[in-house]
Amino acid sequence: MRVLETIEELRTFRESLGAQSVGLVPTMGALHKGHLSLIGESTHHNAHTIVSIFVNPTQFGQNEDLSTYPRTLEQDLALCENLGVSAVFAPNVAQMYPSDDEITILPPKMMGYVLEGFDRPTHFAGVLQVVLKLFMLAQPHRAYFGKKDAQQVLIVRKMVEDLHLPLEIVVCPIVRDDDGLALSSRNVYLSPQERESALCIPRTIYAIESAIAKGVYEVSALEHLARENLTGVHIFYAYFCDRALAPITHIRQNESLFLLAVRVGRTRLLDNLWC
Ligand code: AMP
Repeated sequence: MRVLETIEELRTFRESLGAQSVGLVPTMGALHKGHLSLIGESTHHNAHTIVSIFVNPTQFGQNEDLSTYPRTLEQDLALCENLGVSAVFAPNVAQMYPSDDEITILPPKMMGYVLEGFDRPTHFAGVLQVVLKLFMLAQPHRAYFGKKDAQQVLIVRKMVEDLHLPLEIVVCPIVRDDDGLALSSRNVYLSPQERESALCIPRTIYAIESAIAKGVYEVSALEHLARENLTGVHIFYAYFCDRALAPITHIRQNESLFLLAVRVGRTRLLDNLWC
């Protein structure tokens, strides 16, 4: 497995792969089984997998956890090597952002400034900036994203459609811990008591899922159920919408989403259901 730290090294490596199929898995590191499932999908379907590990400063807001975000590079590299990754691209900030006044792109107005984008108005511009650079550099045939960050993957997919980028976005299922909590690099911030409180999140997801399976499609009833289950945490949003993030009154199967963001202690946690 190659470890690439510069743009030049990544370019040269990519050229050496020629026409062989390439999968890209963009991450911020502190890899867990959710990331590993994306990597497994990529190695299964592509001749080569490139994993990027970069804690992207432009997607963090002013008062967010950029400086404390977990960084476990040595361990991440060992995990990638075990999974048959061809190269890890782990650049520093100066490599990715050599200029502090560069061309930027903005997310769509309808999808980029609601929900996560409402509370974090610069977040998706930062995500798109780094993801577009990674796509241009790695030139993957496929890029793998988790359903866990639903709004992110929908906006990235829209960028690929709108800008006619020549790659496929593959959306992978949410991986959960044994207690049901969706895996996240930020779960390490939770104290044991906070983790206990956070378990109302998967309980809510399962309650919504089983209500829908029983034929409850009315959003007002499902919202009520969500609020009943979400106790002891601060709710940023618990929102039912379609795949363009427009609000809905009834679930339409395989076209709807339930998006949830809560704060437990000082940690913002996301979860969702593609329903
Ligand atoms: P991050 O390192 O948090 O930026 O995440 C990198 C990629 O892993 C994103 O596409 C996430 O959606 C995905 N991801 C994070 N957590 C999970 C999870 N629990 N299950 C599946 N994918 C995940």
